[in-house]
Amino acid sequence: MEKTLFEKIADREIPADIVYEDDLCLCFRDISPEAPTHLLLVPKKPIPRIGAAQSEDAAVLGHMMTRISDIAKTEGILESGFRVVINNGPHGGETVPHMHIHLLGGRQLLWPPG
Ligand code: AMP
Repeated sequence: MEKTLFEKIADREIPADIVYEDDLCLCFRDISPEAPTHLLLVPKKPIPRIGAAQSEDAAVLGHMMTRISDIAKTEGILESGFRVVINNGPHGGETVPHMHIHLLGGRQLLWPPG
């Protein structure tokens, strides 16, 4: 299987501004930010999308959720607030088939999203 874009970032084959990494996941700045802070938190194991997650993925997905507060604190947006987004499939706006959590903050975000 060819590596996904985000696997190549994790393997340092494609450059990215990595802000957090551990054994299970990686967090880096989105190349086309939609907010002053726009990060992508990705599992190193390439789950294609959240709609394809299996029971065996529960541990890594739970782990990623617990990393968000630390990353948001480091980015200085824990108190001001932020949004986490997972796009899934064509109607969800997914463009990279390696599941990732968008972490957006640093400005007032609108609701509902477009
Ligand atoms: P999605 O549309 O939810 O699949 O999100 C994919 C995100 O990946 C988009 O916000 C892109 O801007 C971002 N992206 C694409 N290529 C790169 C890259 N090389 N480095 C960082 N972010 C990227």
